[in-house]
Amino acid sequence: FAEMAKGHLIQPWPVAGEIGAEARGGIIAGDGIYVTDIEGRRLIDGPAGMWCTNVGHGCEPIARTLYEQAMTLSYNSPWYTASEPSVRLSKRLAAHAPGDLDHVFYTTGGSSAVETALRFMQFSNNVFGRPTKKRIVARQGGYHGSTYLSASLNGRPRDHDWMDSAGDLVVKLSCPNPFRRPAGQSVEAFCDMLVEEFSTTIETLGAETIGAFVAEPIMASGGVIVPPPGYLTRMRELCRENDILFIADEVVTAFGRLGNIFASKEVFGIEPDLITFAKGVTSGYFPLGGAMISAALLARLRQSNHADAMFAHGLTYSSHPIGCAVAETNLDLLEGGLLAHARDIAPYFQAQLKTLEDLPLVGEVRGLGLMACVECVADRESNNPLALDLEVGKRIDAHCQQLGLLVRPLIHMCVMSPPLTISRPQIDDLVSILRQGIALTQD
Ligand code: PMP
Repeated sequence: FAEMAKGHLIQPWPVAGEIGAEARGGIIAGDGIYVTDIEGRRLIDGPAGMWCTNVGHGCEPIARTLYEQAMTLSYNSPWYTASEPSVRLSKRLAAHAPGDLDHVFYTTGGSSAVETALRFMQFSNNVFGRPTKKRIVARQGGYHGSTYLSASLNGRPRDHDWMDSAGDLVVKLSCPNPFRRPAGQSVEAFCDMLVEEFSTTIETLGAETIGAFVAEPIMASGGVIVPPPGYLTRMRELCRENDILFIADEVVTAFGRLGNIFASKEVFGIEPDLITFAKGVTSGYFPLGGAMISAALLARLRQSNHADAMFAHGLTYSSHPIGCAVAETNLDLLEGGLLAHARDIAPYFQAQLKTLEDLPLVGEVRGLGLMACVECVADRESNNPLALDLEVGKRIDAHCQQLGLLVRPLIHMCVMSPPLTISRPQIDDLVSILRQGIALTQD
């Protein structure tokens, strides 16, 4: 294993020396908020894997469920029959979801969840006799997946350089990042500008050409961008007025990251037409995702009397019984105290990380719940990241790894989103190591 790790064969990219060659090699074990590498170093799992190990590593109740469900029913075809765990899970998800989102199309992860939502948008517009209402509005800075269409919604700098596949099917609005708003503009005026941009886009392109607006309530991989107050409700309103589906991509924000099962309603006061989820639904123990769909929308489809008013869509491993059973146990843990803990500890997490703003390299620390981002700048006057060595995130990560912390580096930013089980002393350790890592990087 050590040899393989050295040659980076464990990376998903096969060519050593190219992407991923410098990535960390050889994580061999995990327990709670920690992982252990091949050299025996114990590291805090700062990004919770990829925003997913919400209940932490080595969780016994989940491990037991994996075994028991495998022994009870290891597979069921989503096309022909429903398994008990998938039906029970759907009921529980519907009880948590906002508004009338009480149907679930299960998938195998986040990209396929987004893809499902978009395919559903096109399907419903075909049934409603308006097949050209198909454009998708996304935002700069967003991240929605790695499949062809979901990836073409992505708007981080390194995404659209090489992947602009969908042409004018996808329209991108500005990133709602208050930290990067035009100099001298108030946050309120910035918000007005963003909403106006959407409104003008609808007018220019015509509502009859736009099928969906896709948005992460908080942009995660774009750098934990918390939008200005009121932004999401106003965008939601514009969607309603123009019969555009509002798809909330909650792949990161759901399942406790912001203290609730779903964040759209509880945190941001919006009721989307669809919600996509993945990651935390099984805390990373099994690949599962899904799209929650509005009952009213489905009822309208059924009433259309269209011969094809059935959404014939499903993947071989959609609603996998093991994944659904794991998700149920995961929900038990969240409902049984972990959500309350995440809500309780989040202000401390944010406040401790915020203290890092006294470091010269740090331009802003921002976040909500148990997701946060440290954004580095070349100088605090201009907040300019461009003059920085854009490998700065990776260098902070490298220092932190030596000291016992995994960081998710994003160009000149570092993301922190630990397992929700983290305690106050563990937050102190995390922040103290991150402080040392940043200090070593700026020296
Ligand atoms: N949407 C969001 C908001 C995500 O953060 C991600 C993954 N980082 C995805 C979709 C894609 O999920 P997956 O990698 O499971 O396909």
